[in-house]
Amino acid sequence: AEEGLRQAQKMEAVGQLTGGIAHDFNNLLTGIVGSLDLMQTRIRQGRSDQIGKYITAALASGHRAAALTHRLLAFARRQPLEPRPVAVDALIAGMEDLLRRTLSERVALDIAAADDLWPTLCDPHQLENAILNLAINARDAMPEGGRLSIAAGNATFGTADARRPAGLAAGAYVRIEVTDTGTGMTPDVIAKAFDPFFTTKPLGQGTGLGLSMIYGFAQQSEGHVAIASEPGRGTSISLYLPRHRGASAAPRPPEDEAEVPFG
Ligand code: ADP
Repeated sequence: AEEGLRQAQKMEAVGQLTGGIAHDFNNLLTGIVGSLDLMQTRIRQGRSDQIGKYITAALASGHRAAALTHRLLAFARRQPLEPRPVAVDALIAGMEDLLRRTLSERVALDIAAADDLWPTLCDPHQLENAILNLAINARDAMPEGGRLSIAAGNATFGTADARRPAGLAAGAYVRIEVTDTGTGMTPDVIAKAFDPFFTTKPLGQGTGLGLSMIYGFAQQSEGHVAIASEPGRGTSISLYLPRHRGASAAPRPPEDEAEVPFG
């Protein structure tokens, strides 16, 4: 029964993916076809001096469609997870330059980690990708500037623990909390935020894949991701990854081809 349910959920996700792609592409194609149509009309009217703006509009839609396919291909090519022991504090410290370059100058960056931080077991590349995507979302939510804080700490939850986030099994975790002072999210947006292709960003700017990928990564790592957000105040996203007990963590993931962010 559980296998059947999982299969049904998978089919639902595939349906959402294809539906989302069809929707975005249809919008972009409508833009291209509409511009070509207007161009043809102007040429028939002998006003071909006026087609410049339609060419510009068609090109812009075409470029956005191409960018969307690139992101989709990168999404489809996703590598299977390769979990290994990870020192999250070292991993985040190694991303500091990248994060500063990603954020605008008007956004202050705070990074903090507990001294006795446990190692976690997860795919370090996927974790870097997740943190980068969270930072991109935070940047987009703070066009006027603000503060982005990334804090890593240990968290243990018992079975009867009232603080245990819904959906997270009892146990020991490393919590990575990414907090911004941006626009925040309405309850409506929070409810849909993890859906593939859900985005409130302008067409061609958001893919709606960032949080759904992070959700999948957290689930597959036997962790969890939770959103706390308030419109006008900001957003805090907590990523829980299981504590690793055993051999020590590698300080840094091996250098490899950079991954495409999905912010
Ligand atoms: P994308 O960033 O491409 O839109 P995501 O899946 O990463 O896709 O995010 C989905 C939506 O969730 C965003 O469009 C935005 O409305 C909302 N969101 C995500 N992160 C934040 C944040 N830090 N602050 C405000 N809204 C956010």
